[in-house]
Amino acid sequence: MAKKSDARGVIYLACTTCQERNYTSSKNKKNDTQRLELKKYCPRCRSHQVHKETK
Ligand SMILES: [Zn+2]
Repeated sequence: MAKKSDARGVIYLACTTCQERNYTSSKNKKNDTQRLELKKYCPRCRSHQVHKETK
């Protein structure tokens, strides 16, 4: 079988306001060393907040 996700690590996207982990994603840590930052909807804040990558 083909090998899966050799350099891709699972990351979580946590709300910077309430620290709730609302989203999961994956990225290639070799190609993308910077922390991911995305504006996503947070159900706890009930609004769009910046979500930052966390383990
Ligand atoms: Zn939040």
